[in-house]
Amino acid sequence: MPKVVYPLDSSKKFTDQQYVGHNRWHPDIPANVTVRPGDTFRVDCREWFDGAIHNDDSADDIRDAPLSTVHVLSGPFAIEGAQPGDLLIVDILDVGPIPQEDSGPLAGQGWGYTGIFAKQNGGGFLTDQFPDAYKVIWDFAGQTATSRHVPGVSFTGIVHPGLMGTAPSADLLGRWNRREQALIDTDPDRVPPLALPPLPQDAILGTLQGGEFDRVAGEAARTAPPRENGGNQDIKNLTKGSRIFYPVFVDGAKLSLGDLHFSQGDGEITFCGAIEMGGFIDLHVDLIKGGMETYGVSENAIFMPGNVDPRYERWLAFSGTSVTLDDEQRYLDSHLSYQRACLHAIDYLTKFGYSPEQAYMILGAAPIEGRLSGVVDIPNSCSTVYIPTGIFDFDVAPSASGPARVDPGMGVPRSTF
Ligand code: ZN
Repeated sequence: MPKVVYPLDSSKKFTDQQYVGHNRWHPDIPANVTVRPGDTFRVDCREWFDGAIHNDDSADDIRDAPLSTVHVLSGPFAIEGAQPGDLLIVDILDVGPIPQEDSGPLAGQGWGYTGIFAKQNGGGFLTDQFPDAYKVIWDFAGQTATSRHVPGVSFTGIVHPGLMGTAPSADLLGRWNRREQALIDTDPDRVPPLALPPLPQDAILGTLQGGEFDRVAGEAARTAPPRENGGNQDIKNLTKGSRIFYPVFVDGAKLSLGDLHFSQGDGEITFCGAIEMGGFIDLHVDLIKGGMETYGVSENAIFMPGNVDPRYERWLAFSGTSVTLDDEQRYLDSHLSYQRACLHAIDYLTKFGYSPEQAYMILGAAPIEGRLSGVVDIPNSCSTVYIPTGIFDFDVAPSASGPARVDPGMGVPRSTF
């Protein structure tokens, strides 16, 4: 096992650990640990809400989810010799849940959760159709996830970090804040909000204290969106065996990561989220000096995905076009066409006995594939969502004999405000 350079104790809060990580982006958050190019090391990660979501049958904790506290990130890790303009090579050697023998609130993390955020507290991809909070607990056995809340389904996880990235420069951070505020200003009272501005409340900034803390907390970017530094990209294929090339914007690069997922569908459409869990990740890092210029990687990471995807051979696919549910025509709106494809799939799965919420959770958590199939055929874009048929323990394809009925089981009551 590689040396654990960033250990976490599952029985303690994020802020009571040996190294306190962070939950905002800022160049002045000090590095916790320094590693060298060529090093291999292990990092522990808390689940993104630091244990606020419980293994039970109520969605109240999702309804009341403390969004100002996310994402709790491990790091920053300084890479010796890294300078602005370099490319940081990060290899994901291994990644998995917290080992079973650990104790504490995330005990062994032989489980994870997928939630639907309430429209008034987070929202999500289909928030107009699903305005209330909902939660599903998934249990892990080896690589397989099953849920007492979604009968008839089991699938192989594609474990990956939802969030990993380098620190922004002061200039880049300024650009983020300006452009996101400009978007917010177009509709400042929108629910859910258009973007999340810096928020000092609940900011965790490593070892910073006093006046420095206050200054940085007022400027630091929230971690929800992916940006030029990588960040919360939620790419399900960033699994074991992946090699990622991050642009370096500050001395030492200041790599941070977290938001581990046992599995996720393309789009992470439920927003809260994939199958969220705490765990460990083994990394190898190296540098390409001056690599941003050499390879034209001026902004945003590039990567080579891992080669340990689950092997599903048969798929049932649903398509959608850029027409609203009220039959209003939109112009090549691929976000809308993916929503329509997902709603189409949800309608279909309810014919087998699932509640709409259960079907939504399957799309958020199982290794479904999403594609922009057509983006030029005016006025309709065409998006498609592919569901592996092998995740169901019944025949999910249409047939003359009609849909098999699953017992929808206990589910979880929706939690309303
Ligand atoms: Zn996540």
